[in-house]
Amino acid sequence: MKNINAEILIVGSGLTGLCAAGILSEIGYKITIIDKNKIGASYFKTGDIRTTAISEGSKKIFDDFGLWKNIAQHVTPINKIKVCDRKISNKIDFENANEDENLGYIVENKILKTIFFDKINKNKNINYYDGVDIKSIETNSRKVSLKSKKYIFNSNLVVAADGKFSSLRKLLKINAFKKNYNHSALFLNVIHSKDHKNQAYEIFKSSGPLAILPMKKNKNFYQSSIIWSHKTNFLKALIDSNRLSAVIEDEIKSFVGNIKKISNKKIFNLSAHINSTFYSEKLVFVGDAAHSVHPIAGQGWNLGIRDIYNLFVVLKEGRELGLELGNNVILKKYNDKTFYDAFVLYQITDKLNSIFSVDNILVKKLRNIGIDFIDNNRSLNFLISSYAMGKKINLFNWLKK
Ligand SMILES: Cc1cc2nc3c(=O)[nH]c(=O)nc-3n(C[C@H](O)[C@H](O)[C@H](O)COP(=O)(O)OP(=O)(O)OC[C@H]3O[C@@H](n4cnc5c(N)ncnc54)[C@H](O)[C@@H]3O)c2cc1C
Repeated sequence: MKNINAEILIVGSGLTGLCAAGILSEIGYKITIIDKNKIGASYFKTGDIRTTAISEGSKKIFDDFGLWKNIAQHVTPINKIKVCDRKISNKIDFENANEDENLGYIVENKILKTIFFDKINKNKNINYYDGVDIKSIETNSRKVSLKSKKYIFNSNLVVAADGKFSSLRKLLKINAFKKNYNHSALFLNVIHSKDHKNQAYEIFKSSGPLAILPMKKNKNFYQSSIIWSHKTNFLKALIDSNRLSAVIEDEIKSFVGNIKKISNKKIFNLSAHINSTFYSEKLVFVGDAAHSVHPIAGQGWNLGIRDIYNLFVVLKEGRELGLELGNNVILKKYNDKTFYDAFVLYQITDKLNSIFSVDNILVKKLRNIGIDFIDNNRSLNFLISSYAMGKKINLFNWLKK
């Protein structure tokens, strides 16, 4: 078996692992990334068909690390979000509170992965190994060692970015609170007849939420991403049937017009979880390895970006104080900075999904009152959009006003 030594070992080269490598390398550590699947430009260009909504808060983090200048040219800014309960007239309009900012930015995952991978490739302090599946983990006072079939990876700190079914979480026997929604999300891109005018829609239907997210024009045609949560059996029967275009058109016609073409369709199982802890000896969990949330608000990866940023801050602080990498006090500080944020988002997305899926008359009436109130109360409307934009909000200050 070959020994590979690194200061930081990142397990997982999804959006979180790739981004973490680029950001943490700025502290000056030597980093190794491993993945059980492929790592490489051609794989990243084809392997992930989805789009992601990036929040204003994540944009600011990317800006600080010199990443936004490469991402910016590929994004579609969202400057208005219409949230509808069953029908278009029952709605809340969220708009930009500040002209220099946007409610979010839609970008293709393959673009993000290619940009992060490019940064990694240019950095001589980062190397990577693919096709590596971790079988065991051992920790002593000096290092943590992860074994695969061919290698032993020794490091001072492991960053577990191995997704919601994290093998490291299982190997360390760390508990997670899990929820299966018994629903799936159908993702697809549509070319449509009407201009989306940089507006996104979240339509709450009794079967589940349907989101329409504006994308850049495709060869001069208007384009959007659709994410439709519904019963898994319904979506499985629909995805390859010749009814697909007609059914989707029926749902989105009043917002973006007729469908001209559908591409990049895929079904994702919907579940959520939160680990009982985001750290253990010489190891931290980031992104979906720590938490996953219902995609109802497009916030899951944005939460992962905040994990990476907080990890950067505490590791840099630790280094400046002369503490060894992987020091337990520093890792606990990371946990304390991130756990509550994840717990709150987990609860909000979960409850939002529950409240809007109920069709009971009383709940519907209460929902209508709430929707009307938020739509007409500018201050509350801005507070909610600020939270969705990833800004720090102070509820007590807001209540005092
Ligand atoms: C339909 C849908 C829409 C979404 N939309 C948004 C959105 O608009 N905005 C947003 O912020 N979030 C969104 N999310 C959430 C977002 O997609 C995830 O939070 C994000 O992709 C998680 O990335 P990750 O790198 O943490 O995990 P993953 O993408 O799961 O990557 C994990 C990596 O670890 C590797 N790995 C796993 N096990 C091992 C092992 N044993 N050894 C080595 N490597 C391993 C895997 O191969 C993979 O490369 C959405 C999610 C869904 C399902």
